[in-house]
Amino acid sequence: MAVTDVIGGTGGRGSGGPWRNWAGNVTARPARVAAPASTEELAAAVRAAAADGLTVKAVGTGHSFTPAAATDGLLIRPDRLTGIRRIDRESGRVTVAAGTPLKHLNRALAAHGLSLTNMGDIMEQTVSGATSTGTHGTGRDSASIAAQITALELVTADGSVLGCSAEENPDVFAAARLGLGALGVISELTFAVEPEFLLTAREEPMPFDEVTDRFAELVAENEHFEFYWFPHTGNCNTKRNNRSQGPAAPPGRVSGWIEDELLSNGVFQVACAVGRAVPAAIPGIAKVSSRALSARTYTDIPYKVFTSPRRVRFVEMEYALPREAAIEALGQLKTMMERSDLRVSFPVEVRTAPGDDIALSTASGRDTVYIAVHMYRGTPYQAYFAAAERIMTAHDGRPHWGKLHTRDASYLAEVYPRFGEFTALRDRLDPERRFTNGYLRQVLGD
Ligand SMILES: Cc1cc2nc3c(=O)[nH]c(=O)nc-3n(C[C@H](O)[C@H](O)[C@H](O)COP(=O)(O)OP(=O)(O)OC[C@H]3O[C@@H](n4cnc5c(N)ncnc54)[C@H](O)[C@@H]3O)c2cc1C
Repeated sequence: MAVTDVIGGTGGRGSGGPWRNWAGNVTARPARVAAPASTEELAAAVRAAAADGLTVKAVGTGHSFTPAAATDGLLIRPDRLTGIRRIDRESGRVTVAAGTPLKHLNRALAAHGLSLTNMGDIMEQTVSGATSTGTHGTGRDSASIAAQITALELVTADGSVLGCSAEENPDVFAAARLGLGALGVISELTFAVEPEFLLTAREEPMPFDEVTDRFAELVAENEHFEFYWFPHTGNCNTKRNNRSQGPAAPPGRVSGWIEDELLSNGVFQVACAVGRAVPAAIPGIAKVSSRALSARTYTDIPYKVFTSPRRVRFVEMEYALPREAAIEALGQLKTMMERSDLRVSFPVEVRTAPGDDIALSTASGRDTVYIAVHMYRGTPYQAYFAAAERIMTAHDGRPHWGKLHTRDASYLAEVYPRFGEFTALRDRLDPERRFTNGYLRQVLGD
């Protein structure tokens, strides 16, 4: 095991300097950093930290905007706890080490002719980091990545290793699939996978009024529907992904590069930077950029359709609302922005998920719509996010655990019927709060 004692905050991400998240808005100065390469080494690192009175936090790739992974105790890096451990094609189960990046999992599965059923927008995150905060894509029938977990292995506060599934420690399994790192450190995850399939993506601009009028129909008729609304305009881009018999027809190399790299990253980066320098220019830029992406259709394997590179840095807040509140909340968001002097260059993203059975899943027990607001990094976001958050919380919204919000345990206990079940389990598994940090004290209570 690689262990570094950190004095004065060196040795976080990369060499030297504190640990920072992707967005650059969270910094941590861990007292110690470890990079275990096996479950045994991980358990030994937890026991050693306990003996020294240090708290413990595993990090993924730091793609959370909240300080969910921040620690001043022992920081456990994912880098050496990676790789596919078992593939069982018969039962459609794949077991991976907890630090495996989703992109490695997706490529390894593709090499075996297998795939996850659904996933989010990017695949940089680790499997354990992504599932611990409830990372999701959009789906009519298929839910978040955590909902695709069938078993997991957890190193608990006393350094013991607990196997969990629907049959083994089912009470822990019900909560630890989305555990916020509060119940222990996950050492491996088993996912349900299926034979690789093809998805046809249909991207199409559509006016805001039409998307919102037809929202229920678009969700019902498509396996995966999402849309982006460009503030200061009445323009949206819609995306419908549905399974297809093929043949595969990926975007052409040039047109794919223009849409995915130039317009979604390169030109968009410039537009955001201009908007940050001259906010008054943003509505004009939004009108142009919302029309730049054109309709297109392509067919490819799932991860190539679901995910795309995100190189423009931003901060984000996302709320999960009861599905039936979608149109009213979106209308209120649009009206709020029209009446304010806010200037926002990033689109609002709208996705869905079916209700699931995980205690702290943002879709726990209810069909859900996700509404996400973003702001280009370095632009003041507080006024925008606060105004949006007022609208979302008035609809009993649940904030994404990895994205900015201001909610605390007393609010969250109201909107999660199974909140008490989770905190009771935390009291049992981690009575001394070995795995706590400031964020967990905020959202779960002491
Ligand atoms: C560009 C970008 C795009 C995004 N797209 C989406 C999206 O499409 N959908 C969506 O829902 N979210 C999305 N997110 C949010 C992101 O998926 C989540 O915040 C996710 O948790 C980040 O994973 P990570 O590996 O970086 O984990 P981190 O952010 O490093 O950690 C997240 C949490 O996981 C815990 N953790 C990590 N490893 C372990 C372990 N082994 N055991 C126990 N706990 C552990 C950490 O302690 C922490 O609490 C996006 C974020 C960015 C920056």
